[in-house]
Amino acid sequence: MAEMTRRTALRTLGAAGAACAALAPGEAEARVARQPDPEDHGLLVDVVRCIGCRACVTRCKEANGKPPDVRTVAGAAYDAPVDLNATTLTVIKRWAGEREAGFVKAQCMHCVHPACASVCMMKALHKGEHGIVEYDVSKCVGCRYCQIACPFNVPKFEWASVAPRIVKCELCRHRAKDGKGPACAEVCPRDAVTAGKRGALLAEARRRIAERPRAYEREVYGETDGGGTNVLYLAPVDFAVLGLPELGRDPAPALSEVIQGGIYQGFAAPLVLLGALSIVTWKNARAARKEEER
Ligand code: SF4
Ligand code: SF4
Ligand code: SF4
Repeated sequence: MAEMTRRTALRTLGAAGAACAALAPGEAEARVARQPDPEDHGLLVDVVRCIGCRACVTRCKEANGKPPDVRTVAGAAYDAPVDLNATTLTVIKRWAGEREAGFVKAQCMHCVHPACASVCMMKALHKGEHGIVEYDVSKCVGCRYCQIACPFNVPKFEWASVAPRIVKCELCRHRAKDGKGPACAEVCPRDAVTAGKRGALLAEARRRIAERPRAYEREVYGETDGGGTNVLYLAPVDFAVLGLPELGRDPAPALSEVIQGGIYQGFAAPLVLLGALSIVTWKNARAARKEEER
């Protein structure tokens, strides 16, 4: 019986590895060199203007059909997420410098050269129309490589779901058919979040810096950081104080691809195991989804 189990397991792993080899590798899309495109869609987040009202967080949840993340503070219940999670695509965090403090919005950065897509063997995460980094649940095998690769710690996994998905901001692309843009920018009472094309957002950022040079850092975060992002930041303090990582000018995928290459080159075992796990997860998720749809 024990021998049968082992043989069955090995056969499963072998088949899974072969399937994985056929399914997976090869076309990591972010390996294609990409330059920032001024026509890409993005956001300009102005930390100087943000008052931490969290209207953007609430409106984002409404627009994306996500439930509130309820916490009790002094006996009263609030929708108060403390970080991005499976029901929170954008969040407001408190930052504090030596002399000042404030609030900063976080969400997917829609990287010009997205590390999440570069490690996604199934292309479930990919660069889509207008430079938006899109997610296709029908291709996702739940390996969660994207979570490890993202330098901004953005993709979240629906651990509590029987058919889990990766969750992250997709710039409200589902609203485009109704002529609408990002909900967070629509609702912000301070114009601390502006939606638009990357080139125009960058020009607006430079205009604000020139107009109030003492209020802003001279750099625009995302212009070149990590190879560039389509979400740009203006800040009154060093970006590190806000929790934005120092990435240099090289695209973040360079590192993740080196790690990925190092793991796989010449090591069949991790590939086989990943294949087995991925296929099992994918089948489970598909079965659960079908069950749910009945
Ligand atoms: S709605 Fe605007 S001002 Fe309010 S927390 Fe969000 S970004 Fe800041
Ligand atoms: S911020 Fe993370 S999840 Fe968003 S595009 Fe960049 S690598 Fe991908
Ligand atoms: S663009 Fe849409 S999904 Fe992204 S943070 Fe804003 S409201 Fe949320």
